[in-house]
Amino acid sequence: MRISIQSLGCPKNFVDSEVICGYLLEKKYTLTNEIENADVAIINTCSFIQPAVEESIDAILQTARLKKEGKLKYIIVAGCLSQRYKQQDLIESLPEVDAFIGVDEISKIDKIIEKLDTVNLNSAIFQVNPKPCFIYDEKSPRFLLTPRHYTYLKIAEGCNNGCTYCLIPHIKGRYRSRTIESVLTEVQNLTADYPLKEIILVAEDTTYYGMDLYGKLALSELLQKMVKLPWDEEQRIRILYTHPAHYDDYLIETIAQNPIICPYLDIPLQHISNNVLKRMNRKICQKDILKLIKKLRDRIHGLTIRSTFIVGFPGETDDDFQQLYDFIKEYRLEKVGVFPFYNEAECPASRLSEHVPESIKKARLDKLMRLQQEISLELQIAKIGKEKRVLIDEVSEKNKKILLGRSCSEAPEIDGNITVLKGDYRDVGKWVDVKIINAHPYNLVGEKICK
Ligand code: SF4
Repeated sequence: MRISIQSLGCPKNFVDSEVICGYLLEKKYTLTNEIENADVAIINTCSFIQPAVEESIDAILQTARLKKEGKLKYIIVAGCLSQRYKQQDLIESLPEVDAFIGVDEISKIDKIIEKLDTVNLNSAIFQVNPKPCFIYDEKSPRFLLTPRHYTYLKIAEGCNNGCTYCLIPHIKGRYRSRTIESVLTEVQNLTADYPLKEIILVAEDTTYYGMDLYGKLALSELLQKMVKLPWDEEQRIRILYTHPAHYDDYLIETIAQNPIICPYLDIPLQHISNNVLKRMNRKICQKDILKLIKKLRDRIHGLTIRSTFIVGFPGETDDDFQQLYDFIKEYRLEKVGVFPFYNEAECPASRLSEHVPESIKKARLDKLMRLQQEISLELQIAKIGKEKRVLIDEVSEKNKKILLGRSCSEAPEIDGNITVLKGDYRDVGKWVDVKIINAHPYNLVGEKICK
């Protein structure tokens, strides 16, 4: 049977989609990226906030239309939508779906398809462990869906932090690290099989890595062992999803002293006012956040900090928002995303008092994004005339001599990119030297330097 897969949501879900593809190929199924030619459509869903739920349901309904037209035999819904909602609600509201599977079932995907094709079912299959405990490892088959020169590496699953606005612990379960040996083996397997130039470490909280398994924060130990692997000078390690409360000096020194680790840190801070940080249960206060940023900038040369913030959290006063506004203005973080608080019923935050009206949420979000756009443009303009190493991701559809890439300062998908003129389509997957000639708030333009 021919299988198509749609992967929604975050890079952690994306890795699950790659593992699903790995198991399917191992069982001799054929993958197709043309859903019209598929017999089975798998939709690996996301559901941590309402917009993600809507996007997942839209994808399911669009796929259901193909099934109604007889172009598809089965629809399987995997991932966070299956994990978040009750069996009855899902089966009644999405009758076109033949199977709902959870995080723990991805290694059994072939059995699910077999069952669909052999058993005359009068109701959709619903196989979801409410307390998921699965995490893939180096023995799990995996088929990379990213361009062949970069990959995500999931070092742990789940989360124990319990931020009051977040559903992920409820959806993905308790934090579970892979062993250091498992991660190192997978790195060696992947770099042997693919011309990788960038390996991106992901988890719900990469800085909490090892606490469950080794009783201590062990990301630095993992990195220390990773940097000793046989890398060539063209390969880079990038770290996403760190938590500001889980940094220590050993980790900062490990990042500062190893040029193979991109001087780029994704640190979702969410807010800066102590009143809001406390209500969010972020386990860190304003003073410690400011100290951390100062230490990181002092120790890590050329550091790019990416962060995200939530506005309109219950109880956020004008003064709380002003503190956030002043912080963003003064600390001038390189990459910033701002989101309105989403009142998800299952979250403790939904039971907090003093919910902020949508109009005020919107006004605060717009005000912060306008400020950040100015800051981002100023920071980008300062790069004009500078030379940068750029990893070429793709050729522009319009012109083969125009390439799109990223430096260490841009992560795939979430940050802008660099348009490279006078390039060569054979540069895809390679680092090239580029002189920056123009800047926009989120993107740069440069010319390839022919040495
Ligand atoms: S650390 Fe991230 S994933 Fe974990 S509860 Fe907080 S927001 Fe959710």
